[in-house]
Amino acid sequence: MVKFIFSSFTVLVLTLAVVKAQNTPIVVSQYPKINEVPPVNSPEVIAWLKEIDLTGAPTIPLHTGNPPACPNPPIANECYWTCDGCAADDITACAAPNTWGLTFDDGPSTATPTLLDYLKTKKHSATFFLIGSNVIQYPETVKRELAEGHHLASHTWSHHALTTLSNEQIVAEMKWTEKAVLAATGLKLKYMRPPYGDINNRVRFVLKKLGYIPVDWTGDAFDTNDWQMPTMSEATVIATFTKSLDAYAKGDKSKGFYCLEHDLNSLTVGAAQKLIPLGEARNISIANVAQCQSDAQPYQAGGTAPMPTVSGATPKTSGTPSGSSAAPSTTGTGTGSASNKSSSAMTLQAGLVSAGLAALAAVALA
Ligand SMILES: [Zn+2]
Repeated sequence: MVKFIFSSFTVLVLTLAVVKAQNTPIVVSQYPKINEVPPVNSPEVIAWLKEIDLTGAPTIPLHTGNPPACPNPPIANECYWTCDGCAADDITACAAPNTWGLTFDDGPSTATPTLLDYLKTKKHSATFFLIGSNVIQYPETVKRELAEGHHLASHTWSHHALTTLSNEQIVAEMKWTEKAVLAATGLKLKYMRPPYGDINNRVRFVLKKLGYIPVDWTGDAFDTNDWQMPTMSEATVIATFTKSLDAYAKGDKSKGFYCLEHDLNSLTVGAAQKLIPLGEARNISIANVAQCQSDAQPYQAGGTAPMPTVSGATPKTSGTPSGSSAAPSTTGTGTGSASNKSSSAMTLQAGLVSAGLAALAAVALA
């Protein structure tokens, strides 16, 4: 009897977990706790750690706090982006000229579908830096992002500052998120953004071992500060970012920029719908990270779905469509030719067919 009750309970829990996962292969109960740093002694993490060699990782002490305070005095050779501005070979600028690399962090959330509706009407494609804990709660939203031509990337499992975590914990944060997105879409993520921009040479070493390319944002001026709402008013967010766009529009536009924006809640999504037209009004093209970097392989090999390809180039505001394949950029610093990057669009035919979304497979973003 006890065994029967246990079995029934187990089935019930699993059933509820599947329902919560919105009929995807993701079973929530088979993933770590939401918003917590995953344990490093699970069979999955132990297996992942066996796949990589962390020997030689820089021995920089772990910081404390979330996000941490800057060390005083600074630690030599740490190259700590949020504290000393040192970015090493992180991507910090959109390689395409006069282009806003549109990115949204911390989703998916219940506000994300509204943003997707808006981006669809505008025919804009963004990169979504996804939190694994949210992916398992809203996998259908992740599928929709992909189906509508957006680019997916990682923002860790639990949004803890990575310089505060051990090398093994960083592996757990990245691989669980990778597993969740792989289950939802069949694609293995390649780009990531460190929560709070918190990254140093030790974190970079581990990320590289896992095949990830970090994407920071283009300095404080391109932090929209949307995350500060409602403490900061929407009017202030818009006024501050307007100044940044004006300064960019009048200055050197040979490289584009990456913003810091969030699909965190209705406030940030509301602000996005007011910020994007400001870029359009200044004739700044809008692109996702794969397009900015002209990366024709914006996911790692090893996924179960075919690689979506960056196949064309359609400007938002100027230029002519090239219709040619974009050159892959593997340096992480965006050194590809400007001609391909001045405008681009991503067709996702292969991935969409694989995801059972053939009806949408002809979507090519303008
Ligand atoms: Zn974040």
